[in-house]
Amino acid sequence: MNIILLGAPGAGKGTEASKIVDTYKLPHISTGDIFRENIKNQTPIGVQAKSYIDQGLLVPDEVTCKIVEERISREDCKNGYMLDGFPRTIAQAEALDKSGIDIDCVLTLEVGDEEIVERLSGRLECKICGSSFHKDHRKPKAEGVCDNCGGTLRTREDDKPDVIRARLKTYYEQTAPLKEFYAKKGMLKTVIGKNEIASTSAEVLKVLGV
Ligand code: AMP
Repeated sequence: MNIILLGAPGAGKGTEASKIVDTYKLPHISTGDIFRENIKNQTPIGVQAKSYIDQGLLVPDEVTCKIVEERISREDCKNGYMLDGFPRTIAQAEALDKSGIDIDCVLTLEVGDEEIVERLSGRLECKICGSSFHKDHRKPKAEGVCDNCGGTLRTREDDKPDVIRARLKTYYEQTAPLKEFYAKKGMLKTVIGKNEIASTSAEVLKVLGV
């Protein structure tokens, strides 16, 4: 089972991807997480990616395709994987097509812009395990502390208001056209993201046929 999850920043891709990988026992491949890990470790890819991510821009296709190609060639991807945040451009989708990989399902999570800005500007992320919280709607049990691992919560650098606006612009210009790309191939399934995470997840699993 190879699944692609599309959606604007803040639509809930990470949260839903975690549910999907738990259900299907698939590796969760998030290009954003791979870049953040590289930034943390100050690798050459991390240094390069940071300059784009901090401006709300996409990391060049060449770099991104290479890291995905390397990741999906590993043993744990033999029986499928969940791609979260990749592809994000038509060129990336075409590169995936060319590599001969069969995608079983492309799911897009749809959430309105106002809701996205509200979600991202209140988002708190664990420095250690990456779990997501919200300062009003999904408060951690203890302020500033991750419920799952006890790590410190922080606001992501790219969740600052001017970067959020740039990320949304990037999404509409470069990523949203992928919906038509996959719809034309008869592969696109749409889920409307609700505030209640449980009902969005139930809908996602239903659409996937679980
Ligand atoms: P995310 O955590 O998915 O919101 O990704 C964070 C940032 O990483 C994005 O705003 C982009 O700058 C970069 N990024 C993640 N995935 C991709 C991709 N497929 N192509 C280019 N840049 C990406």
